[in-house]
Amino acid sequence: MPKKIAIVIPVFREAENLPVLYRRLDLVTSRLSEFTWEYIFVNDGSPDNSYEVLLNLASTDSRIKVLDLSRNFGKEIALTAGAYEARNVDAVICIDADLQHPPELIPVLIDKWVGGAEMVVTIRVTSDREPLFRKWGSDLYYWLMNKCASFEVIPKATDFRLYDRKVVTAFCQATERERMFRGIMDWMGFRREFVEFSAAARTGGEAGYSYSKLWQLAINSLTAFSLWPLRLTGYLGLLISGCSGLLLLWMIGNYLLKTKLVYTPLAIFVVANTLLMGIVLMAIGLVALYVGTIHTEVINRPLYLIREKINFDLVDE
Ligand code: UDP
Ligand code: MG
Repeated sequence: MPKKIAIVIPVFREAENLPVLYRRLDLVTSRLSEFTWEYIFVNDGSPDNSYEVLLNLASTDSRIKVLDLSRNFGKEIALTAGAYEARNVDAVICIDADLQHPPELIPVLIDKWVGGAEMVVTIRVTSDREPLFRKWGSDLYYWLMNKCASFEVIPKATDFRLYDRKVVTAFCQATERERMFRGIMDWMGFRREFVEFSAAARTGGEAGYSYSKLWQLAINSLTAFSLWPLRLTGYLGLLISGCSGLLLLWMIGNYLLKTKLVYTPLAIFVVANTLLMGIVLMAIGLVALYVGTIHTEVINRPLYLIREKINFDLVDE
């Protein structure tokens, strides 16, 4: 039995890129005929005619499967949906539809996989015409991640990766909702190998994650999950009790030593009261940490909803 490899492609506003991508993928996979291939295009609620383009492609090639999500769920969920639907294959390759990930690299990924790697991660070494602001944003992001995460996050590692079936099976056990696809993959470990490539500029369409969209995403997650305001309370409490605590010590010291600066008992009382207020805020912040966790667990909404599945075998249902 030849090994089966699924290529998962999240699609959002990529109508003009899809035919080119398919042609390039097909060229690569036809040279790797020792494997059987399937393409899983996940249409992530594209407002353009990406879906029609995909339907056209699917009618010419039965290896093309199309997953049409009911609305735009974001790339992370689109990738998750693709990985879930590709469970009975030997490996999954995730690749962006915007041609920033060269399909011509796939044979290299396969080589590493055949050589024993369970996850092959591509690293983007250069990118022409990347806006400075975006670059700073991603630098800051990686810096923060490496500070906060309990596992190593490799800068410039992309979503263009090959995952062994074992990794995909393990991934399907992840239940967290606020997910970052490659974050979960990195957290899981497994034998990883790295491949470098230089990214090309976008050839068509525009980046799905515009600044305004990124900002909106940040604001939305703030209000919809409302953990940050609560956590902020805790930090505010920490600040208030820290400052007033120091001030109180200073005042009491002066009061006892009877140096030139002597504070009235009322002033000391006011500062002590502020300290208590800070402690109460801190306690609220602590409770908020637990409430936040319970909140995300309790919501338990489905990760994605599929409107239609095209070219999926009925036996799979
Ligand atoms: N994408 C998606 N849903 C979205 C935004 C993007 O499925 O809401 C897809 C998009 O079609 C592309 C990939 O995710 O295949 C990467 O998107 P983009 O190039 O906008 O992101 P970046 O390259 O900045 O990571
Ligand atoms: Mg891109």
